[in-house]
Amino acid sequence: MTYKNSRIFAETLDQDDPLGAYREKFHYPKNKNDNDLIYFSGNSLGLQPKSVRTFVENELDVWEKKGLLGQHSRWKNFHERLLENTARMVGGDSSEVVVMNALTVNIHFLLISFYQPTETRKKIMIENGAFPSDQYAIKSQIEFHGLSPLDTLIELTPREGESILRTEDIILAIKDANQELATVMFGNPNYYTGQVFDMQAITNAGHDVGAFVGFDLAHGTGNLLMNLHDWDVDFAAWCSYKYLCAGPGAPGGIFIHKRHHDWTNHRFAGWWGQNKETRFNMGPDFDPIKTAEGWQVSNAPVMGMAPLLAAMDIFDEVGMNAIRKKSEKLTGFLEYLVIKILPEVTIITPENSTERGCQLSLVVPGGKKIFDDLSNRGVVCDWRNPDVIRVAPHPLFNRYTEVYDFVIMLKKILAE
Ligand SMILES: *Cc1c(COP(=O)(O)O)cnc(C)c1O
Repeated sequence: MTYKNSRIFAETLDQDDPLGAYREKFHYPKNKNDNDLIYFSGNSLGLQPKSVRTFVENELDVWEKKGLLGQHSRWKNFHERLLENTARMVGGDSSEVVVMNALTVNIHFLLISFYQPTETRKKIMIENGAFPSDQYAIKSQIEFHGLSPLDTLIELTPREGESILRTEDIILAIKDANQELATVMFGNPNYYTGQVFDMQAITNAGHDVGAFVGFDLAHGTGNLLMNLHDWDVDFAAWCSYKYLCAGPGAPGGIFIHKRHHDWTNHRFAGWWGQNKETRFNMGPDFDPIKTAEGWQVSNAPVMGMAPLLAAMDIFDEVGMNAIRKKSEKLTGFLEYLVIKILPEVTIITPENSTERGCQLSLVVPGGKKIFDDLSNRGVVCDWRNPDVIRVAPHPLFNRYTEVYDFVIMLKKILAE
């Protein structure tokens, strides 16, 4: 793709954008003069689909008119409406996914199954600078097993002077840890750098040494093209309020590869994981559903799932291929403009489009002050300590002209 540094060029891209009309399907935030803000924070909290209200009101109606009878009919298997579409989104079979709980909660539940350290195989590997919640979860899991993170947790750091990890170094570290490695879990993409890790290569390397391999796809779901089943990934978890636009605290999703569905090893059980035929017999013995649903614990949060259903309809209608195609072009345009007119700004996110999603992480001289200026002028992006401004144009509701206007605004602020 060849880009041009002009607003007219950006306008042309908007006019020719096959997904341009989708912005109208979202409520777009405005400033006090009723002008659109520039919303580049779909990586933190996606915008509200206009259809959400109807989806939620439908459930409120059922509750209002039927009370418990809603539970007996419509809500009993409510989460099943999110199996096929979720499977398409992450590249798995519908038996391999389920929507339940929140992300960090799910990480704990998954690690109870997929991190079972032994005397000789007890190490767990993550990327250095993983999202704090993941670090806390993993360290507390290690301690729960009576171990210490000091000699159990392997955190991979980039080479001296580099800000992203090289795949070859990850593979080498996995080989080095060898039979001591129990589990690998990377955040993909990393929330700070925006780097997308090679899930296939990491999974293969982990399996070669007999470790389980999983991913936290908080920043990947609704952003990247994925084939979790074919890549043979053991487990994954994600939230749905970021790129997926399902609203604050919306329930997360998990993936568990088919090969584990006969699981007889540890898991923390609950009645929603119980065989559906016998669930309401209320018997004492746990007979898990032999799909990812077997990891469910509690009954489905219907009011939280309704907005997700609304959002998934939109994602499903467009399809991840078209979403990703626009995203590459939109983020590519942002990268082009930053390199072209902001030489003082460093992009730490990889330049190869297969190694990144929507987000670019910018290191800007003046750091936090520049970020505050951007916010005051109507850009919604975010600041992450120590020194990064994260900018994530969302392919379903952002425009090429917004990318252009943002870069020009940043140039002005830096010149002041
Ligand atoms: C957003 C995010 C979380 C947040 O966890 P919740 O349990 O949903 O609050 C955790 N991990 C990563 C990598 C994230 O990006």
